Amino acid sequence: MDTKTIHCPCGSNKQYIECCGRYLDKGESAPTAEILMRSRYTAYTLGREDYLLATWYHSTRPISLELASEPRSKWLGLEVKRHEQQGSGQAVVEFIARCKVGGRAHRLHEISRFVCKAEQWFYVDGDIL
Ligand SMILES: [Zn+2]
Repeated sequence: MDTKTIHCPCGSNKQYIECCGRYLDKGESAPTAEILMRSRYTAYTLGREDYLLATWYHSTRPISLELASEPRSKWLGLEVKRHEQQGSGQAVVEFIARCKVGGRAHRLHEISRFVCKAEQWFYVDGDIL
């Protein structure tokens, strides 16, 4: 996929390079947990395992995600329901992501936890509802 001119997969209605591309390709730090969450969703749609691991907090980070293994998920859309700052350096984001795996539609409803260390947000873990 040519990511230069596409609308950002996170659903922001902006071009990828002006949205999540700033974090995935230009190495900028996402300023809020919600923006990090959106950029991680975009990383899933693009198969960017490197970015997903780099933004995963070290204490809960898996060794690999095996995104390339079959069957691949086709991500269809993201809806952020809630973004809540919890004290300094912690936040939760509730979202619904829709995807298709092997022709079947799935809906992932998750509350994710994030921490901010040295002005950089990281994904910690989440509860699937
Ligand atoms: Zn985006």
